Amino acid sequence: MTFSADFAYETRPVRVVFRPGASVTAVPEEAQRLRLRRLLVVCGSRGEATARAVAGALGDACVGLHAEARMHVPVEVADRAVAVARAAGADGCVAVGGGSAVGLGKAIALRTGLPLIAVPTTYAGSEMTPVWGLTEHKVKRTGRDPVVQPRSVVYDPELTLTLPVPLSVTSGINALAHAVEALYAPDTSPLVSLMAEEGVRAVAEALPRLAAEPDDLDARGRALYGAWLCGTCLGATTMGLHHKVCHVLGGTFGLPHAETHTVVLPYALAYNAPAVPQALAALCRALDTEDAPRALRDLSVRLGAPRSLAELGFKEGDLMLAAEQVTGEPYPNPRPVTAEGVLGVLRAACEGQEPTVSL
Ligand code: NAD
Repeated sequence: MTFSADFAYETRPVRVVFRPGASVTAVPEEAQRLRLRRLLVVCGSRGEATARAVAGALGDACVGLHAEARMHVPVEVADRAVAVARAAGADGCVAVGGGSAVGLGKAIALRTGLPLIAVPTTYAGSEMTPVWGLTEHKVKRTGRDPVVQPRSVVYDPELTLTLPVPLSVTSGINALAHAVEALYAPDTSPLVSLMAEEGVRAVAEALPRLAAEPDDLDARGRALYGAWLCGTCLGATTMGLHHKVCHVLGGTFGLPHAETHTVVLPYALAYNAPAVPQALAALCRALDTEDAPRALRDLSVRLGAPRSLAELGFKEGDLMLAAEQVTGEPYPNPRPVTAEGVLGVLRAACEGQEPTVSL
């Protein structure tokens, strides 16, 4: 394997605490370390019971619970949460939940500068990134700002025991997508490659185990550990074709986040494969296969995940529009992004074909 002695790697000041039960035992300690005494806890409506336990553990250091997080952070939801944080005199925020809850915490941090503690309950990985997103008039804007990067992240595998198996599978493959694209990102580095390969290995190994035995805390812990690594890769690099395709399918066509990532990933990887031999070799090692795109598809199909975009409600008649949007803006990708190439990826994903690598 050749070694590239040309890279930059930046670490941001984030403390990670990982242990079963940490959501109630470690969050108050993290608040103390950060000298925060007036925390607003935010979550989605389905995560309220868990968030209430975290709020209870914070005791007097909690000034409120705001259970209004929604997918893709609509701007009016962010506005309300900011107003609630200001009215409560909050000096920090704790986000408990998946990418949607963490996204709301980030929106508060973006507008107020308040420090954020994240307690993730899915494998989406947003807690490890400085990327925020806000949706207005059906258009999702994203940006990078170090102020939204959580200062502490508390991973508690026990919280993921309630994550239904179908969502565990698709959320896990959403995590894999971050590692896959980090391996061939223009700003990848040796440390990112190590984390990506280990993250893929951990998640891919854990998903079949937790699908067979959802209460297996060891498998849950391994999946969450892998998701942490994959999320770190996402935060450290610039994503390519796969994430752009999913962004368009989610933003313009309203397709569900984790499921869309799950369906598209094998085809995006098959498209890029000829241009990224080293990334492919790392993925083959991690997945114990000689055909990484096919292994990814086999994994998700074996675990009952959706196979095609058509199953997710995408219409064949929208293929051209989606392909135009994906090719419309510049973003880094190891293989040149052509209209024909993108259309091929989208068509294959729409129909749920076997992924094939073509030059
Ligand atoms: P989500 O947060 O919307 O959660 C999906 C569903 O699962 C919700 O109904 C939620 O209530 C439920 N849920 C979450 N954890 C659960 C648990 N432990 N048990 C039972 N139910 C649970 O979805 P997500 O996939 O985690 O996140 C997707 C969102 O995050 C998207 O908006 C995406 O754009 C964003 N995201 C942002 C970044 C970033 O870096 N900014 C990274 C990844 C994802």
